[in-house]
Amino acid sequence: MFAISRHALIQLLSANISPENISYNATVIPSETEKGKLRHADGTAIDVDILIVSDGSKSRIRKCLFKDEKIIQVRENEVVNIIKNKDIASSVENDFMKFHHDQGGLTFGILKLSHDTILWYSQFDNEKYLINECSSDNLKTYMLEVFADWDPLVSSIIQQSSYENVHLWCVYELEELNPFYKDNIVFIGDAAHPLIPFTSQGVTSALKDSHTLTKYLVEEPNFTEAFRKYEADRKPEIETHINNGRLLLNQFLLPIDQQTDRILPISYK
Ligand SMILES: Cc1cc2nc3c(=O)[nH]c(=O)nc-3n(C[C@H](O)[C@H](O)[C@H](O)COP(=O)(O)OP(=O)(O)OC[C@H]3O[C@@H](n4cnc5c(N)ncnc54)[C@H](O)[C@@H]3O)c2cc1C
Repeated sequence: MFAISRHALIQLLSANISPENISYNATVIPSETEKGKLRHADGTAIDVDILIVSDGSKSRIRKCLFKDEKIIQVRENEVVNIIKNKDIASSVENDFMKFHHDQGGLTFGILKLSHDTILWYSQFDNEKYLINECSSDNLKTYMLEVFADWDPLVSSIIQQSSYENVHLWCVYELEELNPFYKDNIVFIGDAAHPLIPFTSQGVTSALKDSHTLTKYLVEEPNFTEAFRKYEADRKPEIETHINNGRLLLNQFLLPIDQQTDRILPISYK
């Protein structure tokens, strides 16, 4: 198992790019007046030959280009928390641990990030377990109630945790994939293909997209041909992950005694 925090990954990726070429905390939106162009939120135009877009699963830029797309909320939400607590961190091994409710639709996972930091999360069937309000106080109450009588390791982590970083995630997927490019705009990562967390392939796929696209942009003098080869290369693998993700979601919703034996909890080709 290899885990990397978003912060560490961003540091690693930005290390070889001049700081003046990166704008942080800037929102980019499609231009209403010029087709295929983007602009900054303050109205400044962005004038470039090609655009590589990676604005996540609910991409506004994708929605603007593919108006008929249907994005659906998946029947699973996650409460995710990162906490600094040496006592809790020392009580868990370096392994990734995951606990499942025997009636299905509820899990608790723990991942040690360092000697004093752990990430924990709960995946839940959002038709069975309802959270109406996602303030940290409300999420804390929910976690304390739902996991009170679980394995002592789980309930003690829930009780000792700070909830300042807790977050409720909703998960989305496209009913059908769009093309990965249109004119001079190409999509990578979740913007091209939202992948549900059960696949555990979201980050790897985003990195593979950027690697593959870079390769073809370097090799091909014509960017349309580079985009075409990128899509042809990446789409079949993504379709496999989407299908596997749907199978894994169905398994998750079932009681454990009805789940398929020996199913790997990750999507693979
Ligand atoms: C609860 C949860 C658990 C997950 N667990 C895993 C896991 O275990 N393993 C795994 O591999 N994947 C996991 N994933 C999926 C993974 O997070 C995504 O696949 C991955 O983050 C996709 O990377 P990305 O760069 O394409 O998009 P994102 O990480 O979503 O990044 C998009 C970025 O674009 C920015 N943005 C959006 N709109 C604009 C705009 N208009 N202008 C400028 N910037 C904008 C956003 O602020 C964000 O920083 C999980 C996802 C969720 C929700």
